Amino acid sequence: MKLSQRIMAIKPSATLAVDAKAGELKAQGKDVISFGAGEPDFISPEAAFAYARRAMDEGRTHYPPTPGIPELRREISDYYKRRFGLPVEPAQIVVGCGAKPMIYEALAAIVDAGDEVILLAPTWVSYIEQIRLVDGKVVVVDTEKTNFVPDLQMTEQAITPRTTAILLNSPSNPTGIMYGEDILRGLGALAVKHDLWLIWDEIYEQLVYGENRHFHPLQLMPELAERIITINGVSKTYAMTGWRIGYAWGPRKVMDKINAFQSHLTSGATSIAQWAALGVMRESEADMRKMRDAFQARRSLICGLLAVMPLISFPEPQGAFYVFINIKNCLNKSYKGQLLQDDIEFCAALLEAELVAVVPGSAFFAPGYLRVSYATGEDAIREGMSRLRRFLEEIK
Ligand code: PMP
Ligand code: GLU
Repeated sequence: MKLSQRIMAIKPSATLAVDAKAGELKAQGKDVISFGAGEPDFISPEAAFAYARRAMDEGRTHYPPTPGIPELRREISDYYKRRFGLPVEPAQIVVGCGAKPMIYEALAAIVDAGDEVILLAPTWVSYIEQIRLVDGKVVVVDTEKTNFVPDLQMTEQAITPRTTAILLNSPSNPTGIMYGEDILRGLGALAVKHDLWLIWDEIYEQLVYGENRHFHPLQLMPELAERIITINGVSKTYAMTGWRIGYAWGPRKVMDKINAFQSHLTSGATSIAQWAALGVMRESEADMRKMRDAFQARRSLICGLLAVMPLISFPEPQGAFYVFINIKNCLNKSYKGQLLQDDIEFCAALLEAELVAVVPGSAFFAPGYLRVSYATGEDAIREGMSRLRRFLEEIK
């Protein structure tokens, strides 16, 4: 039977696939260490359970309002006021089943067939496939030569009359790099000059380390208010990946349409999970800080271990929980007689030989790299990195 061209072209999420593969090997009794999917290893804060239990006891089992329960939309509105000083009306907010579908819904709301969306590579796997799923065209601006920060001139050169949006993610998955004030102003100016949307995915905005500071573009350029759709959620910040709650906010004109789309797609996110998300946003700031401190300590640990390994290099991540490692010096060399031609072969050989799972950079439009997620315990980091080192030392 026929399958659509759209769906024939889709590739499964490489990040989730790495974890699935690691899970299979573990089920066979193999001692795999996975640095695959970016998922906090912590259990959700107690407030998630307390609020979810109460919601169940109170029988909150009916369809929620499509854009989210009013209490949660109010809380998100208050959060943006508190954290960034930004006035966001609850009516501008749509809560959905994770940040991932909110990006898809936002793309569906602004992209017509053949419209171009600019991605700044290395970039997250799901953006690429989601743009294709709405029949948009992915236009890639590479940032490898500019330390993973976009070059404004190169970005502007990529803009055509078909460009609809630039999709931005800071702190970045997969590099951990953050965009500073100047670059945000520059990108904002491009959006104004060429009348573009900005999709601003700040899912890692609370996971920022050391002296680094996260800005929302509207703090710097209020004039972007009519052209920016913000994506955020509780998955990463509060270790809530399995509850599947994320949200988007932006100008009413587009958010009303996203809400209409969602009314046909999911009828809104699970009501019990929305109450759980409300619980952590109201009460779990201290838990979040503790998790962030743990990520910061793991970042130092893993960067210290990687820094003394042969053949590789990496920029120190400023946020999120990834290290993006350049392995180009390992390619076209051999590991125990096996030629490693690209990052995909490197990752496969590493998994086979040392039972260490990492994601190849190709999945993020960055061949010659690999992504390591350090959202895992310190013992696993130590053991996994010692295996990686042993692997690298065998490359001739
Ligand atoms: N954006 C980025 C950059 C991500 O890494 C993720 C990871 N899952 C998401 C969005 C989606 O998060 P979720 O759907 O779990 O809210
Ligand atoms: N976003 C995380 C990652 O990139 C989780 C997996 C996924 O959603 O693809 O690994």
